Amino acid sequence: MTEPRERSFRTPAIILKRRDFGEADRLLTLLTPHHGKIDAIAKGARKLNSTKTGHVELYTRADMLIHRGRDLAIVVQAEMTAPYLPLREDLARGAYAGYCVELLDRLTAEGDVDSYRLYMLLDETLVRLSIDQDARMAARYFELKLLDMVGYRPELSECVVGHEPLLPEDQYFSAGEGGIVCPRHVAQAGSVMPISMEGLKLLRHLQRSSWKAVAALKVPPAAHDDAERVLLGYITLLIERRLQSVDFIRQVRRLE
Ligand SMILES: [Zn+2]
Repeated sequence: MTEPRERSFRTPAIILKRRDFGEADRLLTLLTPHHGKIDAIAKGARKLNSTKTGHVELYTRADMLIHRGRDLAIVVQAEMTAPYLPLREDLARGAYAGYCVELLDRLTAEGDVDSYRLYMLLDETLVRLSIDQDARMAARYFELKLLDMVGYRPELSECVVGHEPLLPEDQYFSAGEGGIVCPRHVAQAGSVMPISMEGLKLLRHLQRSSWKAVAALKVPPAAHDDAERVLLGYITLLIERRLQSVDFIRQVRRLE
């Protein structure tokens, strides 16, 4: 026999999305460490004097009491535990936070069970985006770690076509193949983006090193631009593919 799911539980949660719902309520998308990603209604959250669930700002962390109803989960109580104020006060930091949260939301599904590492990564990233010197680097670090966790770790140490180790030279990146293509195999790889040796070095650091080690790096701006461009191309393709597979599932369901 399987255990029935707990009807009510307390959990820390980071607010990923917040939409108006009806006259007075809000529909939240939450990331929790042990219950995955949850959509939940915060009743009365749009009323100014709502005390029970009033603090449901985006990208904040709160301790919540959640009740699973028949259809939707309901936030019964919410108490903010980390407001991450700089993300609200600084436009650039807020934009990076919005980007990281959206990326996590798009690359994960509601049923993902192993949400603990995702939750810790996001929480640590929001801290870094709030206080660290280099918010842009914190966003890059988040991208690489997230790709790892959701099963899209890019191949950065060997050529994805010939599988030989890479030489220290400028390379190419194939979003379709999910990794580096060397100059000798580039003709066989289809659509690619060029990446400098320095840009690749940064990507490898981001993939392998701790945040402390990455934050101490002195990276030439051109190398960062390179790494950013390649990651954006790769991530854009992953999201498109994901949307296509969601569409496909919907079509199949319609045929059933
Ligand atoms: Zn090759």
